[in-house]
Amino acid sequence: MNSVTALEGIEKARIIERDQHPVSRKNISPNALKVLYRLSDNGFAAFLVGGGVRDVLLGKQPKDFDIATDATPEQVRELFRNARIIGRRFKIVHIRYGREIIETTTFRAHHEQVNEIQDNVSRRQITAMDSAHSTGGMILRDNVYGNIDEDAMRRDFTVNALYYTTDGFRILDFCNGLQDLEARKLRMIGDPEARYREDPVRMLRAIRFAAKLEFTIEEKTEAPIDELAPLLSSISPARLFDETLKLLCNGHARATFTLLCKYRVGEFLLTPTIEALDAADEISLRLVELALDNTDDRLAQGKSVTPAFLFAALLWPVLQLKLQRFGNAEQISPQQYHQAANDSIMEQLQCTAIPKRFTIASREIWDLQRRLQRRNKRNVFSLLNHPRFRAAYDFLLLREEAGEDLQDLGAWWTDIQKSDTNQQNAMIAAVEPTTKRRRRRRKKPSGKSE
Ligand code: ATP
Ligand code: MG
Repeated sequence: MNSVTALEGIEKARIIERDQHPVSRKNISPNALKVLYRLSDNGFAAFLVGGGVRDVLLGKQPKDFDIATDATPEQVRELFRNARIIGRRFKIVHIRYGREIIETTTFRAHHEQVNEIQDNVSRRQITAMDSAHSTGGMILRDNVYGNIDEDAMRRDFTVNALYYTTDGFRILDFCNGLQDLEARKLRMIGDPEARYREDPVRMLRAIRFAAKLEFTIEEKTEAPIDELAPLLSSISPARLFDETLKLLCNGHARATFTLLCKYRVGEFLLTPTIEALDAADEISLRLVELALDNTDDRLAQGKSVTPAFLFAALLWPVLQLKLQRFGNAEQISPQQYHQAANDSIMEQLQCTAIPKRFTIASREIWDLQRRLQRRNKRNVFSLLNHPRFRAAYDFLLLREEAGEDLQDLGAWWTDIQKSDTNQQNAMIAAVEPTTKRRRRRRKKPSGKSE
């Protein structure tokens, strides 16, 4: 029977029987169950692990379901037609069902056990060895396969190392994860400092989970973050971009941002924003906060969010400081505006990558802020049909909400969208003469002085 296979040789875990925990198959994605069953039907051990178990235990809907198994990536791929091996750092298998991806990883040994394992190659379930370190203790490759208790020890936080098996529907707890879950604590497995040095992204993960789950970061886990935050500079900008999105698009962006500032980690991820906020006015700070709240609200309503809007908002204070150097708003030339926009984005690109399609869109949102002020007939109709109009209009509303005085420009654009063509023409005519009148007024004093 497979049931013997799954739990065989597991000595270090506390086993929680089905009637002692609330995780039911109803909470688990049918595709994840399919993968678990197929692996175990073929004689492999397979467990749901990570957020899929943690979030169900917390009564939350998991974002995705991750599976850990003793099958190698190649063995997994053979069992599933829809499977693809991916990953440079870690070899993992993505099993795709429509839009859902079930991430399957082979039990991994902790890197420190490599020597021990190499001395004892006959140990159970060791099927490959491939581990490398940088001089600073960072793991570069980590494909040393191990057994389940080793796999548990190389995970990040205790609450992320809970395993659920369809064999008796039990939960396996190797490092008191359940106790920490009940106490709502994030505790790093092993020595926190060493684990952050191995992979500095774990600092970002601590912050992300603390904000998302409303957990406290346990004292020893929290202590080294401030000092080790600069290690984030050694992470590739592409990975940092992915992590930034996970931090800000998890429905708790505002809380996450607060923690990023508190632990000084933000300084290495959103350097220009954090620096600008120190020097910027209240309105800029408020705009960033509102953009984060807005992101959270949209996600709560099941709406999409775009990194372009988010970065346009996060870098707005940076742009404003640069523009101030050129003088007041009316004096700034289009070239200067473009230059300042370019520079703001370039500064962020020193921290995180941002795919070009997003930076282009962020700049369009900024460019349109200027165009939204020009309410002549040609410009208004062309703007209403502009593919980025909606985002730019939302951004305008955000600026006003943050306290910028734009003379009810937002309300005007709100009204014009709801009006028919006749009304729209009337609205434009009503604002157009203002410019003409102003021109005429300017002439008078100059005429007098002649
Ligand atoms: P969520 O999917 O809700 O963001 P998660 O805990 O499932 O949270 P994933 O990024 O999906 O996080 O990773 C799945 C599991 O893999 C984690 O729970 C953790 O056990 C392990 N893991 C992921 N990244 C790391 C890391 N950098 N170091 C150690 N373990 C990690
Ligand atoms: Mg997950």
